[in-house]
Amino acid sequence: MKDNFGREISYLRVSVTQRCNLNCVYCGKSDCAKKETELSPETIEKLVRAFVKCGINKVRITGGEPLVRNDICEITKRIHSIEGVETLALTTNGVYLAQYAKDLKKAGLDSVNISLDSTDGSTYRHLTGADVLRKVLEGIDEAQSAGLSPVKINAVLMKGVNDDGAGELINLAKNRNIDVRFIELMPFSDEGENASLIVTGEEILKEFPFLRPIDYKEGTARYYSADGFKGRIGLINPITQKFCSDCNRIRLLSDGKVKPCLGYDTAFDIMRFIDDEDRLVEEVKNIILKKPAGHSFENKNAGHGLNRTGG
Ligand code: SAM
Repeated sequence: MKDNFGREISYLRVSVTQRCNLNCVYCGKSDCAKKETELSPETIEKLVRAFVKCGINKVRITGGEPLVRNDICEITKRIHSIEGVETLALTTNGVYLAQYAKDLKKAGLDSVNISLDSTDGSTYRHLTGADVLRKVLEGIDEAQSAGLSPVKINAVLMKGVNDDGAGELINLAKNRNIDVRFIELMPFSDEGENASLIVTGEEILKEFPFLRPIDYKEGTARYYSADGFKGRIGLINPITQKFCSDCNRIRLLSDGKVKPCLGYDTAFDIMRFIDDEDRLVEEVKNIILKKPAGHSFENKNAGHGLNRTGG
């Protein structure tokens, strides 16, 4: 369905947990290992069904870290079983991906985005608090051999922290059929609020002038490639090139609240209608109509950390 600004809302991001096995410096301020109540696979299915009745056809499972849930394959299978879900994707830090990739594919997962901000072991450890780079690289291999497609890498660059590794990340798209996307740092943490750390999409293009725009449109990224590249480079510029007028997203948080915009803390509870599908659908429609025109990252730390919201 269309929201009040004429945008067709067709993409639901479902956060299945706030827990995370990493502690990325830019992600948020809360405790990543915190215990919380999580929705059961059955409840998640009921909620997603209501969203699909409102016009959602693409679903992304995210978190926290979705693969810390040992029922992640059941969640995937249940969402895949909903008629009207045309694309089912997952965003993960990749640490447990090697062990889950084949089962996730079997459960109906189409594609995967893997967060990887550096291919250098000590920088990776500094950014995430864990010495698990090798596991993430294995996860990327397994995702490809399981037939998940596309496999994309998401990277956030920060000046003086990991921006010197941009070339190595770009090389992943040169050598493999992988899209590497750089996301501008958003203000969700002390690091995120430090604007001097942001590496903009424009700065990346200046540093790698061999990247040429290509005629490929998908989501919020602008895509580039270069001679001999097997994959693509994507630039996602929420700070310098707001894409709110094209935003087709809505978010279901891990506690069952619905968040219409990443840039605001506002979230609506619909769990009290969980056993009344017609009412659920009605509420979801009302919430879609409350989606604001755009985020307000200019006002700094406008929303919850992504570990809470789901990236
Ligand atoms: N645990 C999963 C993962 O690591 O991909 C899913 C959740 S994570 C919050 C999703 C994405 O949000 C990651 O790609 C991460 O880099 C991105 N992210 C987190 N904080 C960010 C920030 N301040 N600015 C830009 N992207 C951010």
